[in-house]
Amino acid sequence: MKKGLFLTAILAVFLWAQVAAAKPSPLYVSAQKSYKSLMASPAKKKYRENWFNVIKKFEKVVKKTPRSPDAPSALFSIGSLYNSLYNHSLLRDDLDKSLEAFSDVVKKYPSSSLADDAQFELGEIYRTKLGDNKSAYLAYSKVVKRFPRGDKAKSARHWVRKLEEFKPQEGKPISVKKETKAFVRKIDYWTNPDSTRVSIETSRDAPYSFHLLSAEPGKKKDLRPRIYVDISNAVLSKDASRTIPIKDGLLTQVRPSQFDDRTVRVVMDIDSIDDYTVFNLTNPFRVIIDVKGEPRIPAEIMREEEPVTVTEDKTQIEKLLEGREPIEMGPDEGTSPESKEITMYQQLGLGVKKIVIDPGHGGEDPGAKSKGGLKEKDIVLKIAKKLGEKIKKELDLDVVMTREGDTFIPLEGRTGIAMKERGDIFVSIHANSSRNKKLRGVSTYVLHPASDFEASAVAARENAVSTKALSELQDLLPKILRPDNYRESRKLARCVQDSLVKSIKSIKGAYPNVRDIGVKEGPFFVLMNSGKPAILVEVSFLSNPEEEKRLSDDGYLDSIAEGILKGIEVYLKEIKVAAT
Ligand SMILES: [Zn+2]
Repeated sequence: MKKGLFLTAILAVFLWAQVAAAKPSPLYVSAQKSYKSLMASPAKKKYRENWFNVIKKFEKVVKKTPRSPDAPSALFSIGSLYNSLYNHSLLRDDLDKSLEAFSDVVKKYPSSSLADDAQFELGEIYRTKLGDNKSAYLAYSKVVKRFPRGDKAKSARHWVRKLEEFKPQEGKPISVKKETKAFVRKIDYWTNPDSTRVSIETSRDAPYSFHLLSAEPGKKKDLRPRIYVDISNAVLSKDASRTIPIKDGLLTQVRPSQFDDRTVRVVMDIDSIDDYTVFNLTNPFRVIIDVKGEPRIPAEIMREEEPVTVTEDKTQIEKLLEGREPIEMGPDEGTSPESKEITMYQQLGLGVKKIVIDPGHGGEDPGAKSKGGLKEKDIVLKIAKKLGEKIKKELDLDVVMTREGDTFIPLEGRTGIAMKERGDIFVSIHANSSRNKKLRGVSTYVLHPASDFEASAVAARENAVSTKALSELQDLLPKILRPDNYRESRKLARCVQDSLVKSIKSIKGAYPNVRDIGVKEGPFFVLMNSGKPAILVEVSFLSNPEEEKRLSDDGYLDSIAEGILKGIEVYLKEIKVAAT
């Protein structure tokens, strides 16, 4: 804002007629109100449509009254909204829209009191979010040059000095878009008995390539076999630059480095692997490297079984691991894939020892909310705790909870816990919600491209991503899904869903009308690559008045926990029978 604004305000008191004319229009006031209400509500911020509703209101202001003082303010708000939305979505598109709106304020309303603020915002975005110091330098320089008396001039001068080295050389115009680099900001890994996953997270989409180098016997000692991923147009951030030891029998370590001024190279030194896959996820952008090797069967299980001819067993396992051709989409319930083949789990007779229970949401993320104020995060935690107790007591199995209290855990961290803890079964618990208040019932989901529109809406909500990011995730699934794991998850889902419905119906005639939505499929991020049977249970709708009432009844929550428990029990019996 320009310094002169205060004086203008005083003058305006005397120029009564002008005050009346400058009064914000009802349209603008209403948009401003919606903006405030969105900013005050973490729950509302979770859904993109809420952001777009506010943005649309401001767009209407610009369109209907382009010459009023409301227009530049509305445009500035649009820029700020997209900028904040990007903090949630990490979609480059949102940031581009923000840049566009701020540029428009400067271009179309150069004498507005917000022009200097908008120009300054451009510099901030380039510097802090895009790591594009050249563009940032230019943006700050414009603030100094064009708005030397504005209140942003001082900060802008500071950054112009700091970024001096990025001043473009004479006669060498720079292309802003191409120079925007991605920061490699985080590298993480998870290990399983037969697979290891490495994830490289960047601040924005980045082109990448990958290569496998075999060992070179007779050459230098340090030439071990390795996979390396080159991320182009990228800068390695300090936080991500250290070597990560893994030593799990598959990978020895991960070594990131700034290979040249445009390329970040991440090397994975190999101990022994059979196969590997590289793909990317978005929102935020991550390059995922999955390596697979021979399952190392725990010794005590080998002893329990009849003598196994190891060589034969090995080839069967290999065959199953090789079976990574895209699985059939949209399986039909009649010829259910659950019952057909004997799966790897059964062949190995792997004993289930540990169940990971994942109560959805938590902390700053309340999940769905009912009209009466019930929060999904609280309800699912109650159910999860009950379920955990029951499993320990009645099934005598170990239980790991992804959260015990009201804490926030990112989706990726939840599968991470499951993998680190080597859980044998993963159960994520959620409560459903829909705009259609009439919708009710219970459903159980497995990882797969969405079976229908409703499933895809549920996945979008639980993943807290845009439908665009969701469709990208959908496209990746055939690459990631393992048919044996999918079949096993479906079988578990079927057992849990059936006994859940039964359990609710059996509460002394109270809820005989429970709606059985059935086993469904969706691209749930939280179910991705647990490598073990994994399901997500949607226990009733918080948005349905009748089910809202039920969910506030402790006895009802208990019957849900009991239903899931019985489902797991039936499943365990089934795989035992199949294995003998
Ligand atoms: Zn949820």
